[in-house]
Amino acid sequence: MLKISGLSKVYPTGTSALKNVSFTVEEPNVVTIIGPSGAGKSTLIRCINRLVEPTSGTIVLDDVDILALNRRDLRRVRRRIGMIFQEYNLVERLTVMENLLSGRLGYVGFWRTYRRVFPPEDVAAAFALLERVGLSGYQSTRADALSGGERQRVGISRALMQEPDLLLVDEPTASLDPKTSRQIMRILVE
Ligand code: ADP
Ligand code: MG
Repeated sequence: MLKISGLSKVYPTGTSALKNVSFTVEEPNVVTIIGPSGAGKSTLIRCINRLVEPTSGTIVLDDVDILALNRRDLRRVRRRIGMIFQEYNLVERLTVMENLLSGRLGYVGFWRTYRRVFPPEDVAAAFALLERVGLSGYQSTRADALSGGERQRVGISRALMQEPDLLLVDEPTASLDPKTSRQIMRILVE
């Protein structure tokens, strides 16, 4: 369960992006936040994994007080929170498989990742996810050679490699055409 209470964010510029936001998400569930540009949607989503530090309020994920965590514990909790962005955030020069396996970074450790040594079960999980999002056979394709819809499907697969308890998704279809958008939303809901 995710419980947000009295969440506020004032940026150093003085912009008040969130004012006293409270809501609870029971699991399993898909919750959509709708609002005009500048309403504070991205700020809200980013507060949940503390990419943005809230000014006040509390965020509790399964009894863990997110805002009270030190850096080390925050890193551990972030492994349970997947994130998917509008702009994909893939490593352009790496292959689809390498991008997916980098989703395991929090588990595998920097040096093993750097040397590109991955456990066989992670590689098997990556192949299974690629099949699930309709990208079988794309493992060796470089990210910069993919279409927008394909990139976002890699982004989704990479986030799922973490086996997250919570998936934060910020305007995942903003740069996609309507048909591809529906396909991406269907995969996300699934
Ligand atoms: P949305 O995602 O709904 O479009 P945002 O969360 O990006 O909204 O922005 C909410 C408000 O906070 C806007 O007024 C925006 O200009 C402001 N804002 C967002 N990020 C920053 C930042 N890093 N520094 C200062 N102001 C920001
Ligand atoms: Mg936004």
